[in-house]
Amino acid sequence: MSEEATPTPVEERDDELASEAGEPEGIDQEAIERRSAALSEVVKFGEPVLRSAASPVAEFDDELAAEADRMIGLMRDAIGVGLAATQLGTLRRMLVFQVGSEAEPTVLVNPEIEWRSEDATTAEEGCLSLPGVHVDVERPTYVRVRAQDSAGEPILVEASGLEARVIQHEMDHLDGVLILDRTPRDQRKEAMRTLRERLEAA
Ligand code: ZN
Repeated sequence: MSEEATPTPVEERDDELASEAGEPEGIDQEAIERRSAALSEVVKFGEPVLRSAASPVAEFDDELAAEADRMIGLMRDAIGVGLAATQLGTLRRMLVFQVGSEAEPTVLVNPEIEWRSEDATTAEEGCLSLPGVHVDVERPTYVRVRAQDSAGEPILVEASGLEARVIQHEMDHLDGVLILDRTPRDQRKEAMRTLRERLEAA
């Protein structure tokens, strides 16, 4: 399965970027600064909004389109592959994803999983809202998702592998579900320890 061969966590392409450990190779100072500015706008674990269910979008106006563009910009600056509105503190059912730098960024508003495969895959995921946490998550390998774009036009997305994983991860955010809820107990305990240490250090 392609995502098993992908060493990068689902929401973060490279966790070591801009980390305290020092500067990674192949990324300039400006990109590091852009990344930390973007990450500072992402709501982190402990904020109740991350545990809240988002509401369906009813109005497709300029403000919504602008917010979708802002989300795409932040996702890219954060060097992430997906971002849910909830992670910016907004409880509306909207997410963006872009798997691979060649892919077009996609906005999904009011996404619904129409079909999911019985075939499932386990792979490591990270989350921009859970700094330093990487845990194994099992998810259906294939999904078909109905949604609207930021103008309200219907879209149908058939996704597999990493793309399917990212979409499901972001849709979980819209229901207040985090990867901590989907990982084995021992990994959750370890992740909670990491988060506590980060919170205390902050
Ligand atoms: Zn996430």
